[in-house]
Order: sequence, then structure tokens, then C-alpha cells
Amino acid sequence: MNYDIIIIGAGPGGIFSAYELTKLAPDMKVAVFESGHALSKRRCPIDGDKIKSCINCKTCSIMSGFGGAGAFSDGKYNITNDFGGTLFEYIGKNRALELMKYVDEINMEYGGKGTKLYSTAGSKFKKICIQNDLHLLDASVRHLGTDINYIVLENLYAYLQDKVEFFFDTPVETIEIIDGGYKIICQSGEYTCSKCIISVGRSGSKWMEKVCRELDIPTHSNRVDIGVRVELPAEVFSHLTDELYESKIVYRTPKYEDKVRTFCMNPKGAVVNENTNGIITVNGHSYEDPAKQTENTNFALLVAKHFSEPFKDSNGYGESIARLSNMLGGGVIVQRFGDLIRGQRSNQDRIDGAFITPTLNATPGDLSLVLPKRILDGIIEMIYALDKIAPGTANDDTLLYGVEVKFYNMEVEVNESLQSKYDGLYIIGDGSGITHSLSHASASGVHVVRDIVKA
Ligand SMILES: Cc1cc2nc3c(=O)[nH]c(=O)nc-3n(C[C@H](O)[C@H](O)[C@H](O)COP(=O)(O)OP(=O)(O)OC[C@H]3O[C@@H](n4cnc5c(N)ncnc54)[C@H](O)[C@@H]3O)c2cc1C
Repeated sequence: MNYDIIIIGAGPGGIFSAYELTKLAPDMKVAVFESGHALSKRRCPIDGDKIKSCINCKTCSIMSGFGGAGAFSDGKYNITNDFGGTLFEYIGKNRALELMKYVDEINMEYGGKGTKLYSTAGSKFKKICIQNDLHLLDASVRHLGTDINYIVLENLYAYLQDKVEFFFDTPVETIEIIDGGYKIICQSGEYTCSKCIISVGRSGSKWMEKVCRELDIPTHSNRVDIGVRVELPAEVFSHLTDELYESKIVYRTPKYEDKVRTFCMNPKGAVVNENTNGIITVNGHSYEDPAKQTENTNFALLVAKHFSEPFKDSNGYGESIARLSNMLGGGVIVQRFGDLIRGQRSNQDRIDGAFITPTLNATPGDLSLVLPKRILDGIIEMIYALDKIAPGTANDDTLLYGVEVKFYNMEVEVNESLQSKYDGLYIIGDGSGITHSLSHASASGVHVVRDIVKA
């Protein structure tokens, strides 16, 4: 069981590493270890009928398996250095963009052809935003949609399956340094390799921390983003989403001068549960296929918090807030904006009486009992600011789901090749804390392989 290269994790980072290896070094013996299922076996048991909420499966099919955390996502590949990670700090802005474009070309070749590439370049909204003290970030956005994203993954797997050895349902437990390489230890056996690419994403964050502790690889604390997912009638944002699809808008709140930003916009999409290490938070996605679209648009409003001294555990802080919402709501809580402003909890009657139908079955409640005042104030101020460019955002019936938390892995110390202090041990994708998106994670996979092959 000896390989030239072992890749741990079959998310976008791992997939694009494997893909690039088949192109640049087809003779290398490569294995991919993935704790989740093969793509065809990934099924979340929530059917909205018999099973309405998360039952904490041993392996979460939303977060794990071939395709990683992004398999059932909206498949928005943001080609930009302005957000989605700090890969450019390691490999340079031009190279980062070039690799993201390369990833886009491959996605097009494997089923994405015909999907739309949106861009903020030359958009009139930049001016309208600035006039209202809002800041629109620059990006090109390839929207694959949940359906096409899945097809691209199916096609990539069909291409890779006989060139690379896949071990599904096989979490790696330990990595040991041996003479000339690494030993990968799983319950099913031990495997060796000369080089190892770790791409375990957010679901592998605890494991990644353990590996860094055991191998004494330095890490640095990262930020956590905390907020809510906003859902409103699609018409309210349609002028923005029709032209840009996703707009990343940043607002500096007058009260605390905190930055609040929009994140993961899903026109005509659905709000969904997300399970991170047993904690239920909220997320969203949308389909390219008009038949699967809803009447609502959703997006997150997030505030970044970064703790360093003496308390360093930004993720722990985010987790505690999410646990509180899980404790009060048994999962995700939903509240009408009007109820929040009036200081009253939403109940089922108020939700049923709203002029909008929620796309997620969440527990009506009171988000002011969950979110810290400073964060909640920032979100409310941002909603009023957005109301100026998208009137209707601050309507009473706008739904707020909480909490949405974006956990970031601690940043692992790596060099410009994304190599740790150990020769041949690479740490990429969201698991490295450097990337937070499909395009950046995928690009990091291509980058390491080009570096390995050149060496
Ligand atoms: C619901 C949802 C929607 C999203 N939408 C978007 C979007 O539209 N656009 C965007 O840019 N980003 C989106 N994201 C984020 C995006 O999915 C991630 O940034 C991206 O998947 C990171 O890729 P990765 O390869 O680094 O890690 P992941 O995709 O997390 O893959 C890591 C893989 O490693 C496996 N693993 C973990 N530990 C081990 C172990 N010990 N042994 C073996 N395998 C292990 C996991 O099972 C997982 O499959 C979304 C995320 C979610 C959850």
C-alpha cells in the first residue's frame, strides 16, 4: 500500500489536486482518502416529512464525501482576490486569479458549459452602493447552481475513478513521519507515501488541529463570522441579482464601526440547515433549473470577530452562540424583522400570517436572546442601509434565520508552496485556514501539484 502521493479529503481542494496530477504526472500512483461517502451515496436524511431536522448522522452527507462541503452548494465560483480566502498572500494575486480561471475552464469542460458568468465590472451598482455608504466588492461569479454543480462533480469523478484510487468512508486517523515520506493510518489499514496533500476542509478542522499538535506544526487563530440569513421576496433584490447574481456588499456601522457584509446570495433559492461538528447552523443555496427555483432570495449578513489575547478561540465563541440558538430553538430559529424590531418573539401564527413563505422549517423565536447586542445592532443597521438600495429589505415580514456562523480553520503555517515545515507535507483548501471558498480551495489544489511536479 505504497503511493507516490496520498490526498486526504475529496472536496474541491483534493479533487483538483488529483485532477492536476492525472494531467501533469499520470505515472504517479495516487490515492485519495475520504471520510464521507462516494457522491452517489451522499444523502441527507432530512426529507421535510418523516425527518424534519438534523439527526446528527455519523458522517454528514452535506459536509462530507466526494465533492466535499460544496457538493450540494449553490456552486458559486467567485473569481476574485477580494474575498473567499487569502490564497493570493501566498502565491500572488495574478497566479491566484490565473488558477481560479483554469478551474473555471475545467468546470466548463466537465458539464458547466452554458452556465452564466456574472461580473461587477462596469456595474452601475457600484456607484449606487457608494452613494448609500455601502461598498460593492469586485468579482466575477460563475454560477453553476446546485444541479449543474452536481453534474460537474459526477463527470469529474467518472474521469478520475480509474486513474486515482479512492478510499471512501475511510477517515484518516493519524499521520506519522517516516523515512522518505509519511504513514497514513486508518481503521482499515496503514498506507505510505512520499508526499501527502491534506485537504480536509471545515469538517476536518478538529482533526487538523490534532495533526498540527501531534506534528508540532505552528498555527494561528482565525476569525469567526456570526450573523443571520435573510430571506425576502426575490423581487426585492432582483435588480441586483439579475445583473450580478451575487453581490458582496460591505457596510461600516455608524454605532461601533464594525464591518457587516452580505454573503452567499441565493436568488430564488432555499434556506438550508448546516451541521458543523453536531451544531446546527443555517446556510442557503439555489438551483440553475427554473423548475426548482423558489419565490424567495436569501443571503447572509455577517459580522467578523477575531479573538487573539488572552482568549484565542474565535471558533469556540461562534460555537457557543450557535449552541445557544440550538438550545432555545432545537435547531435554527426564525424571526420576522418586524418582530425583532418590536422586541417580540415570532410565533407560528406570525410566521404563517407573513406575506412570505419560509423555505426552511425553523423554530419561530427571538434572535435577540441569542445574538450579542453588538452583532445584532450591526445587522439591524445593515438591513436599514440595504433598504436604501433595495427597498423592501427592512419590511416587517423579512425573515431572519439564526444563527449563521462561518467557522474558519485556524491558519496553519505553510510557505508559498503551501508546504508545512515538513518536506512533502502540504496543507491546502479550507483545512489550511487560507481558503474559504470553492474557487480558492480548488486553485490551491492545482497550485500544490504544479509545485510538486516542478520540484
Ligand atoms: C451549504 C454550503 C454552501 C456553500 N456554498 C458555497 C458557494 O456557493 N461558493 C463557495 O465558494 N463556497 C461555498 N461553500 C464553501 C465551500 O463548499 C468550501 O469553501 C469548499 O468546499 C472547501 O473545499 P475544501 O476541499 O477545502 O474542503 P471540503 O469541501 O470541506 O472537503 C474536505 C473533505 O475532507 C474530508 N475529510 C475531513 N477530515 C478527513 C479525514 N480525517 N480523513 C479523510 N477525509 C476527511 C471531508 O469529509 C470532506 O469531504 C459552501 C459550503 C456549504 C456547507
